[in-house]
Amino acid sequence: MKSILLIGLGRFGIHMARKLQELRHEVLAVDRDERKVNRAMDFITNVQIGDSTDESFIESLGVRNFDLCIVAIGDDFQSSLETTALLKECGAQYVVSQAIRDVHAKFLLRNGADEVVYPEKEAASWAAVRYSLNHILDYIPLTPEYAIYEMEIPKDWIGRTVEELAVRKKYHFNILAVKADGKLLTMPDPGRRFGKDEKILIMGDEQAVQRFWHVKG
Ligand code: ATP
Repeated sequence: MKSILLIGLGRFGIHMARKLQELRHEVLAVDRDERKVNRAMDFITNVQIGDSTDESFIESLGVRNFDLCIVAIGDDFQSSLETTALLKECGAQYVVSQAIRDVHAKFLLRNGADEVVYPEKEAASWAAVRYSLNHILDYIPLTPEYAIYEMEIPKDWIGRTVEELAVRKKYHFNILAVKADGKLLTMPDPGRRFGKDEKILIMGDEQAVQRFWHVKG
C-alpha cells in the first residue's frame, strides 16, 4: 500500500482516484473546485479543497510524506506546471504529471516531473494497434518498437508444439504465456501442444508481428 497525493479531480483524475482506492492505496485527493471535491467524497475517504499552485497550501499537505504525487491537471497547463515544480521544491519523493501535448510532456519533465503520463496519446496508440491489426486482442507497448501482444493462434498451430514450430527462429518473437480456458499458463513447456481457441502472449516488435500475420493471413 502506498500513500498517494492526487491533485486534480477532472475526468482523468477521477478515474485514477477510483482505481487507486480499489487498489487499496491511501489516497488524499485535492481539487480547487468545490463541486469536484463534493462529487469525489462519495468514494474517496480523504478529499480537500485547495489550490495546488499556492505554496502554503502545498506545504500544509506535507508532500514529502507521500510515496507518490500525481498531478492530474490537463487543460490548465500553467497550473499543471506550477504544481509540478512546487511539489518537487517542497520535497515530493516522486511526481507523475499528466500531459496532453508533446510539448507539455517536455516542460513537465524539465520542471520537476519524474515521469509523465500522456493518457490520450497512450490510449490512441493502443486503440490504433488493437483495432487495426487483425488477430491482436491486447497490446502493451514497452518501447517504440517492442510490445507485448495478446493474439489468436493461427489455425495450423493447433495440435503442434512451440518446439516444432520453431517460433523464435522463424518469426522472431517470444511466447511468454498461453491463455487456455481463461487461465494463463506462463512460460509454457516447448513440448506442449496448442489447443483450439487458445491465445498467446508474445513479446516482439511490431514489424515481426505484422509480417507473421501477413504470411498466416
Ligand atoms: P477534465 O476535462 O479532466 O474534466 P477540466 O477540463 O476541468 O478537467 P483540467 O485543467 O484538466 O480541467 O483540470 C483537471 C482538474 O484539476 C479540474 O477538476 C480542476 O478543477 C483541477 N485543477 C486545476 N488547476 C488546479 C489547481 N491549481 N489546484 C487544484 N486543482 C486544480
